[in-house]
Amino acid sequence: MAKAIYPGSFDPITFGHVDIIRRIHPLFDEIVVLVANSEHKSYLFSPEERENLVRQCLAGLNNVKVEVYAGLTVNFARQAKAEVIIRGIRAVADFEYEMAMANMNKKLHSELETLIVFASPEYNYVSSRMVKEVAQHGGDLDNLVPPAVRKALQDKLGR
Ligand code: ADP
Repeated sequence: MAKAIYPGSFDPITFGHVDIIRRIHPLFDEIVVLVANSEHKSYLFSPEERENLVRQCLAGLNNVKVEVYAGLTVNFARQAKAEVIIRGIRAVADFEYEMAMANMNKKLHSELETLIVFASPEYNYVSSRMVKEVAQHGGDLDNLVPPAVRKALQDKLGR
């Protein structure tokens, strides 16, 4: 078995992300959920808030770790001796971006494989961006994010 990284913004983590991790964590010795901290992106939640929410939502999965990283995923993979990157695809719209990123990462680190996992049908419409929009307008978040994330969104957005 190998070590994998699941990189993303997780701004915030949703039931879609949780579903992917729950499904794949038995396949690996260890998975590091890598919370991106890119200076070119603006996030609703700070890196520490996103990391804490991921931790709370995945508590109990003993082989899953959480880290914040500001650099290239391939550099983290080298340093952590990980062999696999996990990414998710919800619909055709995700495909081109994920393919370009997988090819770029392969170019930068030829021994690293990207494993694409399809979203479960019940979550293939769930994205962090849409969840934030729903939260902003006071919509029902129950089926979209775990309770800790729902509370964090309501606190952050003053509802
Ligand atoms: P990024 O900004 O790197 O795309 P995200 O947190 O939005 O970060 O997503 C991280 C990964 O999780 C991406 O591969 C994305 O396609 C996948 N993902 C996001 N939402 C879902 C979902 N509902 N089901 C499955 N995969 C998802």
